[in-house]
Amino acid sequence: MSGSEGRFPKSLIEFQRRFATESECAEYLFGRRWPHGFVCPGCGDGRAWLLKTKAFTYECAACGRQTSVTAGTIIHASKLPLTIWFWAAFLMATHSNGTSALQLRNQLGLGSYRTAWMLCAKLRRAMVDPQREPLSGVVEADETIIPFRTKNDPIVVPAGRSGVGKMLVAGAVEVDVGSPRRARLKVIESFGKGEIHAFVLAAVAPNTTLVTDDWPSYNDIPDIKHKAITVGPMAAHIVLPWTHRLFSNLKRWGLGVYHGLRKTNLQHYLDEFVFRFNRRRTRHAAFNTLLGIGARTAPAPYHVLIRKTA
Ligand SMILES: [Zn+2]
Repeated sequence: MSGSEGRFPKSLIEFQRRFATESECAEYLFGRRWPHGFVCPGCGDGRAWLLKTKAFTYECAACGRQTSVTAGTIIHASKLPLTIWFWAAFLMATHSNGTSALQLRNQLGLGSYRTAWMLCAKLRRAMVDPQREPLSGVVEADETIIPFRTKNDPIVVPAGRSGVGKMLVAGAVEVDVGSPRRARLKVIESFGKGEIHAFVLAAVAPNTTLVTDDWPSYNDIPDIKHKAITVGPMAAHIVLPWTHRLFSNLKRWGLGVYHGLRKTNLQHYLDEFVFRFNRRRTRHAAFNTLLGIGARTAPAPYHVLIRKTA
């Protein structure tokens, strides 16, 4: 089985039929891991037995090393069934708004909120490809303020560019002949030059034409062609239409799915949003990407997942 995008389920019903059992999910993982047949990660031999005593684990005929189809993926060492992981990845990758831990718990009938939350957190960790290419060509950049909620307070709606008690986010969108392609979002501490330069230099390739408003923090970024447009009486959504749309969709998503984003782990929520935005025309392939990226992401233990971002 190649797991090619062409044969990937297009609907919930197809998905349910294709991945109804543990062994069907394991077969899919096997196909992604060893598209040309089993290869021992220890000695490179191609001969192996499927163990009867350990689920979906192969023992190399040459060196005796045992390798699970989930080894090295975010699924490894999880007590949850593969079918649950597959459903969670499918819902998170293909649903236009993604899914919250609460929704996942209800939809998959999971026993506890903590289990659902861990599942979401691990999938979210798999959403940033460490080898992703920086944005290039023509890129719009802007920054915004996101209202946040704390445990007991109502949503705070701040005003102005001061960052006290607010969540500040920098964003960039690659624009190709008037259409948005890929985006980046990053939590920043201030709208000052240092933070803005660091964001642009990490997100954008050298020699990119950066289009911004006339906020001075965007000036003099090394190796970047900068085109600052004075917003004046013109609204920002005309000058920088795609970053404006990205920010407003982000805020609506935060309110709709999470009833307001929180400061804790905000960057991971931004990564989730960008993951889906960048794959909005290939939602079903996003499932493959999620598992594919997951295969390159080291498993994150619980204490790392719950670490609070400053
Ligand atoms: Zn071997």
